[in-house]
Amino acid sequence: LLRVEDATVRFGPRAALDAVTLEVAAHETVCVLGPSGSGKSTLLRAVAGLQPLDGGRVLLDGADQGAVPAHRRGVGLMFQDHQLFPQRDVGGNVAFGPRMHKVPRERREARVRELLDLVGLPGAAGRAVGTLSGGEQQRVALARALAPEPRLLMLDEPLGQLDRSLRERLVVELRELFGRLGTTVLAVTHDQGEAFALADRVVVMRDGRIAQTGTPLDVWQRPASAFVARFLGFEN
Ligand code: ATP
Ligand code: MG
Repeated sequence: LLRVEDATVRFGPRAALDAVTLEVAAHETVCVLGPSGSGKSTLLRAVAGLQPLDGGRVLLDGADQGAVPAHRRGVGLMFQDHQLFPQRDVGGNVAFGPRMHKVPRERREARVRELLDLVGLPGAAGRAVGTLSGGEQQRVALARALAPEPRLLMLDEPLGQLDRSLRERLVVELRELFGRLGTTVLAVTHDQGEAFALADRVVVMRDGRIAQTGTPLDVWQRPASAFVARFLGFEN
């Protein structure tokens, strides 16, 4: 479904992405792990069409996205800093996605309710965004990203600000939801436990490159380098 070929993004002399090649198959959940500054968010923004490439290309269902603007790519991106629309209420944020406009109002409202239930905010549709805590805003952003059922859902630290018990519950529910909807997911996380619970495959990044990719078990049992082993928390 997604193929990234030799994607390169430079900021000044440094490459935030250095010839990254990556594939995500339909219905697969891939989690990107890696230290701060390793290029995880840049990769997602490049796939979404929000970050121009200095080299390489992005293909979706075989089609080069070079000339396709972000809103026409059919991908959803939940930003690391979630960026809700402050002037819309919670329901208005969740129902914002381009494909949602075509859905009849009753179905749309039912879907908003269902998604808010899922993220643990039942009845919050009418609340002003400014009255929500950071973690609540993050959950609204997650519901907003899920709402249009994009062909590729990209999540940048979707559960980062949530407490452990909520994170553990959401990981299980998201995994079930993605399976049920057949969603294809590319998610960034700092949390290995989360990546290992959610992912069919993990990608470990370092300095704009892919240090290793494999099933969670593979990467855990056979880290490809001392860097990956250290990153996963082994002593050597
Ligand atoms: P984190 O885990 O902290 O979110 P990340 O892996 O998502 O990190 P990126 O945001 O992709 O990292 O950034 C990769 C590198 O590119 C970093 O060194 C960052 O400072 C740099 N960078 C990212 N965006 C820009 C920008 N707009 N201008 C200049 N440098 C940038
Ligand atoms: Mg980031």
